Amino acid sequence: MNADLGRLLSLQAADREIARLRDEIAALPKRISDVEAKLTTARAQVENARGKIKAGESARRKYEADIQAERQKISKYRDQSLEVKTNEQYKALLHEISFAEQTIRSAEDKILETMVEAEDQEKLVRAAEAELKAQTAIIEREKAEVRARTSDDERELAEWTGKRNQLRSDINADTLAHYDRVLRLRGSGVAEVRDGKCSACNVLLRPQELQEVMTQEAVMTCNSCGRILVVTEPPARPAPKPEAQPAAEASA
Ligand SMILES: [Zn+2]
Repeated sequence: MNADLGRLLSLQAADREIARLRDEIAALPKRISDVEAKLTTARAQVENARGKIKAGESARRKYEADIQAERQKISKYRDQSLEVKTNEQYKALLHEISFAEQTIRSAEDKILETMVEAEDQEKLVRAAEAELKAQTAIIEREKAEVRARTSDDERELAEWTGKRNQLRSDINADTLAHYDRVLRLRGSGVAEVRDGKCSACNVLLRPQELQEVMTQEAVMTCNSCGRILVVTEPPARPAPKPEAQPAAEASA
């Protein structure tokens, strides 16, 4: 077997592993930013619910002041009613009193509504705070994991890069240049031959080519995609024929 073919196959494995590790290292910070985004959402929910509670409180104070003012009006009307001269004036004051009472009732309803709303918002605050606490714990764990994973990946990356450089220095320069060109162009530089085909582009090899490739004596490339062809599995043997069984229904 041509020594470069084995090295090229190992080089391809190294290049793939290096690419995978680089992608993983690049993707790791995203795990943290995902949790941080959840944290930001939970924080905003807490802020929002607290804002609503505050708004509800000031609305409640306003309704209470309104009620106070209406009560003062009523007591003023009652005092005036003792001094009116005509029935018409008296009726007008009664009307004012009933109107003020109406206003008080509606303000009392509003106060109840704000209290119910406040209870709902308190629940939201508690839930969002619990979420915040949980996500804060998760982010600490994630950060530690990401740090550990990144340093593992970087160590592996250094090892693979060392292997890769060694392999590259052992491979024929022209072959290596061809491999690099096809790798850049197609994402891989080596393809296995399977069932008489280039397994990367699926193009059938001509019998003469196939025969030459199977000997593995020279570096050969796929006519269609340009990848360097290697053979990693023994040629498929024909499947053994099932033993002939006497047909059961023929015996009657
Ligand atoms: Zn091909």
